[in-house]
Amino acid sequence: MDEYLAKSKTSGDIYRLLYYGASCSRQEISQTLDISLPTTTRCLNSLCNAGLVKSAGESQSTGGRKATLYEYVPQARYAAGIDITRNHLSIVLVDLGLNILDTRRLRIPFEANDQYFSTLAREYEDMISQNLPDRSCLLGTGISVPVLLGDDHKTINYATVIPLPFNIYSILSSYIHEPFLFFNDSNSAGLAESWRGHYTSSLIYLSLSSSVGGAYINGRTLYIGDHNRGCEFGHMALIPHGKKCYCGSYGCLDAYCTANALTDFTDGNLKEFFDILKTGNNQGIRNVFDSYLDYLAIAVNNLRMCFDCNIILGGNVGAYMADYLDLFRKKAIKLNPFENDGSFIHACHYRTEASAVGAAIYYIDQFVKNFPYEMQG
Ligand SMILES: [Zn+2]
Repeated sequence: MDEYLAKSKTSGDIYRLLYYGASCSRQEISQTLDISLPTTTRCLNSLCNAGLVKSAGESQSTGGRKATLYEYVPQARYAAGIDITRNHLSIVLVDLGLNILDTRRLRIPFEANDQYFSTLAREYEDMISQNLPDRSCLLGTGISVPVLLGDDHKTINYATVIPLPFNIYSILSSYIHEPFLFFNDSNSAGLAESWRGHYTSSLIYLSLSSSVGGAYINGRTLYIGDHNRGCEFGHMALIPHGKKCYCGSYGCLDAYCTANALTDFTDGNLKEFFDILKTGNNQGIRNVFDSYLDYLAIAVNNLRMCFDCNIILGGNVGAYMADYLDLFRKKAIKLNPFENDGSFIHACHYRTEASAVGAAIYYIDQFVKNFPYEMQG
């Protein structure tokens, strides 16, 4: 009976209630889901025996008996995320709570050759075998790439930032033997920020790295548009007939707010740029940053006008923005006639792992949504 219950829709509903919310007592679960107390108890026992749920202490007493609280077990399953960028390869292993179990970051330029893919496979395999003696706990591996993808998450539709071969899925299949799929880098990073920050309302993620991209997330759901090209904010026209963008157009946001607009002055080194900026002694660097923020403020104001929601400054530049947030909020809000408070603008939580973590989220999302049934996709 218990085995049957562990696989029932009721168990799935209890599991999702605990995953998405706070810890609950069996009485709260029974009332919230409108199921009897004996069924709730039997399902909880099954979930606990399966290692998916555990007791989490007792509720604060408000008179009467204290009740045992239950919560989901983050370490019951894992997913891996790989982020392939022009110059770096990042690999993370996260649990169901997006806690990072292990992370690796290599400075290695992307090249579509056996040497690159073998390095990727070796590092990946090393991480999985060191951390997960039981491979059945690994749900799958999401791979973040700076390209536009087809609906199947295997087909590459548009790749200019890195020369990703159009048959990359079949190439990588001989190197990675776990289930894997590809995800757009900015969408992945936005998803990671949204899940980790527990945003319940919608948010815009603006990725400011060597290229500029973005994502719109409502709750836990990504908006991708009709052709998987939604939120390509980097190619909004910021300055008519302005600087040439790598996409072929002129005046795109990308041409003004790429991280290269800063690192061109420090030999490609973003940390060095912000180190110099922090000293406050280099007027040239301060001017460059000031001008960068002016352009960024136009873009952020436009996004606020369109979406009326929180905006996270992410990507490599976003990782340094916490120290300059007040300054930037003032700039952005000056452009907005409707508001006088820039608190909707945030700096990102993750410094470098957002895209890799976000790519892994797909498998976690599928597991939780479909539990206890077979994963789809
Ligand atoms: Zn462009």
